[in-house]
Amino acid sequence: MLKIQNLTKTYSGFTALTDINLEVESGERLGLIGPNGSGKTTLINCISGAIRDYDGEIHFNNDKLNTLRAHERTRKGIARSFQIPKPFSSMTVKQNLLIPLEFAAGQSKLDRMSLEDQADEIIEELGLSDKSNELTLGLTQIEMRKLELARAMAAKPKLLISDEAMAGLSSSEVDDILRILIDLNDRTKISIIMIEHIMRAVMGFSDRIVCLDAGRIIANATPSEVIGNPAVEKAYLGE
Ligand code: ADP
Ligand code: MG
Repeated sequence: MLKIQNLTKTYSGFTALTDINLEVESGERLGLIGPNGSGKTTLINCISGAIRDYDGEIHFNNDKLNTLRAHERTRKGIARSFQIPKPFSSMTVKQNLLIPLEFAAGQSKLDRMSLEDQADEIIEELGLSDKSNELTLGLTQIEMRKLELARAMAAKPKLLISDEAMAGLSSSEVDDILRILIDLNDRTKISIIMIEHIMRAVMGFSDRIVCLDAGRIIANATPSEVIGNPAVEKAYLGE
């Protein structure tokens, strides 16, 4: 589904990603780990189109993405949540979802569930029903994380990328987000890439884990293989 070939990204002389080769299958749950500064967010930015001045190629369902802008990649089915949530704070939770839902509907004139109903459905799935008509200004941290995931889901992705959606949450809140992502993958069979520092979460979630260190892939295997990998342990010891 997603195929990354020889991806290299430099920021004015500094090489943040070096020759990344990676494939993600349809329906797969992939964990992306690595110490701070190893290039995880940069990789996601290259996939989602926030960064386009990279070397190498990224293909998604046989389309070459390189020249496509972020919103065009969203149309192809790639959605991401941001490490730092950025909802429209002067809008309610539901209004925040109607924007990506309208975008996903595009010019389509098909008679189907109204956008409002679709928004309600996503809001309920994420357990935000009682906040639906509240401004996002008043949301707690976990509610903000859920809204961020809800907004990504409203774009009807085939690939959802979650960038540290659990950072700063309590253990039971982490379980809450984990359950939402696993249910979503079970039910819709979309692929999910989870970037996460919380090992328990990423181990429990992933079919496969890729570990980055200093912009290179140092492991690409099952969770149990990755956890026993000396190179991975060494990368994290420096933290
Ligand atoms: P991670 O998400 O794994 O913590 P990042 O992808 O954010 O890592 O960063 C990878 C490296 O690229 C870091 O050394 C970071 O300082 C550098 N970097 C990230 N964004 C920029 C930028 N816009 N300009 C210059 N350097 C950057
Ligand atoms: Mg990051």
